[in-house]
Amino acid sequence: MKYRLIDQKYKFMSFFDTDTGAYLRTGILDKNGKDTGRDPFMGSFPNLIDVGIMGHCIHGKTGLCAKAGIGCYQSGLMVEKPNMRLEDFSWIAKQCRHKSNQFALGGRGDPDQHEDFEQILQICKENDIVPNFTTSGYGMNTEIADICKKYCGAIAVSWYRSDYTINAIKTLIAAKVKTNVHYVLGNNTIDEAIRRLKANDFPQGINAVIFLLHKPAGQGTCENVLDVKDPRVEQFFHEVDNLHPFKVGLDSCSVPGVIRFCKHILPQSLDTCEGARFSCYIDSDLTMLPCSFDQKKQYAVKLNPLTIEEGWNGTVFDRFRKRLKTACPGCRHQELCKGGCSLFPEIVFCDKDKKVNRFDDIKDKGEKDDE
Ligand code: SF4
Ligand code: SF4
Repeated sequence: MKYRLIDQKYKFMSFFDTDTGAYLRTGILDKNGKDTGRDPFMGSFPNLIDVGIMGHCIHGKTGLCAKAGIGCYQSGLMVEKPNMRLEDFSWIAKQCRHKSNQFALGGRGDPDQHEDFEQILQICKENDIVPNFTTSGYGMNTEIADICKKYCGAIAVSWYRSDYTINAIKTLIAAKVKTNVHYVLGNNTIDEAIRRLKANDFPQGINAVIFLLHKPAGQGTCENVLDVKDPRVEQFFHEVDNLHPFKVGLDSCSVPGVIRFCKHILPQSLDTCEGARFSCYIDSDLTMLPCSFDQKKQYAVKLNPLTIEEGWNGTVFDRFRKRLKTACPGCRHQELCKGGCSLFPEIVFCDKDKKVNRFDDIKDKGEKDDE
């Protein structure tokens, strides 16, 4: 099914194909409906919602991610909450019908291990929402892979460098599921990333490798944060810039690095941090945040009875947007980059003076006055 959304408030259109996942957003339209070429800053409702259906991780006690060198940003080793209830998920999905295109199912653990996994996917389908998710692959089997084929867009397997990683990728590809690899890029994994990109050494048949920048959230450590001055960072982006037999993607948190180091990537294909602009996160207990990495809940809005739309248009989310709007005045990349990550300035691949102290600038002007 293909459909078009017209955002009357922010004057743009978006098109979405629920079968292929193809998504197109126009620039701001003038009064004659002509594209001005300027990107809208935000939409009047999130296009993509990260829905944290998992409240706890069945691998938490065994430390599956820690053994793979990944610090769970949701602190799955320590925090245990109930999974999202089916009626809460349904309440969310109904509000998003023909407003959000995609749900990225996630939270603290593998979404394919949720007790109501298939019903959750069915609810998405009933509301014309394409579900995607990331899994460790530990519990993947042919039955789950067939369910994914029936309902999901793409499935990503976290690169945990284990037998179960490879088995899950093979099982999903055999079920003809569009399968990606999600690779957390940090100090401890960048050498391997460069080597594998150079050698095109990722499993055959995958759709894409998506690099997700390590953040010091939850159990993610500061030691693993990459420094823009580390020569390996430039080398990595150089490899991203080259052609590969699979697609290579990056999370929007890496956009400042692409702007700085890549030469062949079209600026039109880049979208910097979409938090509170086109996407948000909803936790298993119905706490809504601009981004799932806001583990300190600095920008939390409690839903129910508050609706998603009310939370989206409230002052808390506006406070997050203000950071993106006012970051780095005078930088020629401001429009494209918006200062990068508002939560963790240390992960932004930029060392320009304009970036330095931008948070202090905002605080000096009384950031919280408008709440
Ligand atoms: S100064 Fe700010 S807007 Fe400019 S490239 Fe650096 S982080 Fe991005
Ligand atoms: S707030 Fe930071 S971590 Fe979250 S999506 Fe934006 S850039 Fe990434």
